[in-house]
Amino acid sequence: MHDPALPVCVWLKRDLRAVDHPALAEACARARGGGMFAVFLYEPEVLDQPEWDSSHTEFQRECLADIEARLAKLGIRLVTRRGEAVAMLDEVRRETGFRLLVAHEETGTGVTYARDRRVRRWAREAGVEFLEVPQTGVVRRLASRNGWNRLWEQRMEAARATVPRSSGTGGREAVVRLETAGLLGCRELDQPPDTKTRQPGGEQAAADVLDDFLTRRGRHYSGGISSPLSAPTSCSRLSPYLAFGAISMRTVWQASEKRRLEAQAALAAATTPRERAELKAWQRSLKAVQSRLHWHCHFMQKLEDEPAIEFHNMLRAADGLREHEISAERLAAWQVGRTGYPLVDACMRSLVATGWLTFRMRALVVSFASYSLWLHWRPTGLFLARQFLDFEPGIHWSQLQMQSGTTGINTLRIYNPTKQALEQDPRGVFIRRWLPELAGVPPAYVHMPWTMPAEVQQAAGCVIGRDYPLPLVDHAAAVREAKRRLAAVRGDPQARAEARNVARRHGSRRDARGAMQQDPVRRSLARDAKGRPPPPPDPQQRLPFFTTDAAPMTDHTDDQAAPTDET
Ligand SMILES: Cc1cc2nc3c(=O)[nH]c(=O)nc-3n(C[C@H](O)[C@H](O)[C@H](O)COP(=O)(O)OP(=O)(O)OC[C@H]3O[C@@H](n4cnc5c(N)ncnc54)[C@H](O)[C@@H]3O)c2cc1C
Repeated sequence: MHDPALPVCVWLKRDLRAVDHPALAEACARARGGGMFAVFLYEPEVLDQPEWDSSHTEFQRECLADIEARLAKLGIRLVTRRGEAVAMLDEVRRETGFRLLVAHEETGTGVTYARDRRVRRWAREAGVEFLEVPQTGVVRRLASRNGWNRLWEQRMEAARATVPRSSGTGGREAVVRLETAGLLGCRELDQPPDTKTRQPGGEQAAADVLDDFLTRRGRHYSGGISSPLSAPTSCSRLSPYLAFGAISMRTVWQASEKRRLEAQAALAAATTPRERAELKAWQRSLKAVQSRLHWHCHFMQKLEDEPAIEFHNMLRAADGLREHEISAERLAAWQVGRTGYPLVDACMRSLVATGWLTFRMRALVVSFASYSLWLHWRPTGLFLARQFLDFEPGIHWSQLQMQSGTTGINTLRIYNPTKQALEQDPRGVFIRRWLPELAGVPPAYVHMPWTMPAEVQQAAGCVIGRDYPLPLVDHAAAVREAKRRLAAVRGDPQARAEARNVARRHGSRRDARGAMQQDPVRRSLARDAKGRPPPPPDPQQRLPFFTTDAAPMTDHTDDQAAPTDET
């Protein structure tokens, strides 16, 4: 039984919000009128991970500034410390005497997994009750994937966790006396400055982005999320907030469900064809985004169930395929956007500058790295993790493996960078924006600049091999070879038996709500029922968090159409 004379400590990690915060709510309930406080740790081992970037530090600082103010209004003090988790928690325990530590379950990297085990051991030895509560649809110690979808829905539909104002006084003097390291940014943490033009952090920013998406931008989600032109405004852009916990998955789910039901009711009452078409578009979009919220936890569950997939092929029969052939030169060219394939290069440069890419383009750059350049997913994945503001280990490593053909349970999906460029950026607007060396290249050549005759190169001010590289590899030949190597592995009877086990362990299950069970890759690739490609971006769209001309982009090029007969 908790002693109300002692304060309860809430350890904040990737849950930087005050609304729908089960750990804070649980701590309040368990404090039984006693005091409570929150602690956040700047852990060197976390900050030194190869996945961590300065943009994460600054985004996190903005989230912490927001939550500090919100917690203060709830009567809860936020204290920060810099150091190893067990040492810091023990220090704070000695200073306050807390006997109950509450935190959310985290499905993180190997570093945080090992850290949490150390903290659990320390708590046992120090006589501290360490209570970890779930905050997403991920289920700890899940026996089987059967029935998981229902569990997920139950969690999403449950009432949100409210945090009442804390008026408890237990241990207040000790809590007030606690020293705090304050809110630390790159400068204080001796990190290079954050150079990305990125989304701002914070719970308020998350709420604004959600509201803007559900009332305005979300209309174009269905059909608008594949092209790098329309995706920045058509996608929800909630991922970094979900990754840092600045908004809960349940809040997003419930708000989208409310909006979907409103659209459904309005559709029943709609009288004009135009109104009906609008509301149907909203419904399609909302259903599509909801299925992705489900996939968020589906992918995280894979890492929760098998932490080793961060480092090892899900299908161990694929071990040795790429491990020994990592070309430093190819990796470097891919990272800086100099592979000679314009859409891949534009994506990589835009990612480094902004910290975000839409799903299809993430899949494209990984497919290109894994199949065309034959690079192992681990070094490419580490680079991408640093660039993605929304780095979420469970989604990230599962997707990296899925897009590299090492899960054994997914259809091989190899993207053709030129075909994608022609389809998703037909006039080369995105390409020119991020590859200024191609700015003067005529539309007919912007997707395949290596085919430009010498005199056109001179006139365009872009000599291939000097201003922009020749293709690093012959994509078609490289893919033929990749398929041959993968087929040899996947065709082996032992590998097939292993793949069945992977499917049992990690595969999605079909149930009555079939729409939620579909493979998101197939879904995102789908055209509409009449086989039409996605609509062009809406020039009226604006993002709520960029006020400069950094984004969004619209297709202003109205001269020659790009060739469509080449793939
Ligand atoms: C190689 C690769 C790596 C990826 N790494 C990450 C990562 O580190 N963190 C991350 O959040 N997403 C990752 N994704 C999934 C996806 O690309 C992003 O979630 C999405 O682009 C984020 O933008 P958004 O919030 O506007 O997404 P929206 O399309 O608006 O979707 C809403 C939310 O649904 C979830 N979601 C969307 N697509 C997927 C998906 N395919 N799988 C699982 N969840 C999804 C995300 O939480 C997202 O915020 C990765 C995809 C690929 C192909």
